[in-house]
Amino acid sequence: MRLGLGGEFAEQRAWMVEHQLRRRGIGDERVLEAMGAVPRERFVPERYRRRAYADSALPIGEGQTISQPWIVAAICEALELEGLERVLEIGTGSGYSAAVLARLAGEVITIERVEELARTARELIAEMGIANVEVVVGDGSEGLPERAPFDSIAVHAAAPAPPRQLIDELALGGRLVIPIATDAADMLTVFSRIGESVDPTTGEGLKREVIGPCRFVPLIGAEGFPE
Ligand code: SAM
Repeated sequence: MRLGLGGEFAEQRAWMVEHQLRRRGIGDERVLEAMGAVPRERFVPERYRRRAYADSALPIGEGQTISQPWIVAAICEALELEGLERVLEIGTGSGYSAAVLARLAGEVITIERVEELARTARELIAEMGIANVEVVVGDGSEGLPERAPFDSIAVHAAAPAPPRQLIDELALGGRLVIPIATDAADMLTVFSRIGESVDPTTGEGLKREVIGPCRFVPLIGAEGFPE
């Protein structure tokens, strides 16, 4: 049987879910369903489309990348979303991870510092009829205080430390998933807000769990790295 391009992509997506995600430890069925439903090929530039389901990051222009499928799934799983949450995402990039989050949460606000990427992602998300994602241009390391608190915050770029502002914007019980840069590697880390008051220096009011090593572009901004 000869499949059209859409059929080929659907097959590749199903293969990606089974082989790159489920067999490599992603167990949240809602995350697997979302990853199996969002057409990643729509979020990569035309010339990389045939590699959309490769087990790797791919260039999206402006020196940035769409993350490897496994890392998008791992971040989504670590957020432990149930469906009604307000999520803040930092690092919209292509808009792919925001489209996945849109299937897992009630509302997603995503911040991108590169205006051109934010514009393209916003247009694509609208074209795809995804109504619960808002794309904002700005420095996500400073959060979005006027829209806080957030049930969950996902950061798709590596920071030197958890940004104080993002911790302040987490609702009680909320989870911040963020790659933290170390000399050896970036470490994907979850900070859960377990206390009303938080002291990031002593760790009081925060629970920290390391998921594992990963590789990310730097978070550039006031509470990230300098440009
Ligand atoms: N999640 C994206 C996707 O699905 O395509 C990929 C994100 S890419 C690995 C990281 C993105 O973070 C880049 O687009 C970069 O411009 C953005 N970024 C870096 N620092 C930022 C900041 N302070 N605020 C907002 N976006 C930032």
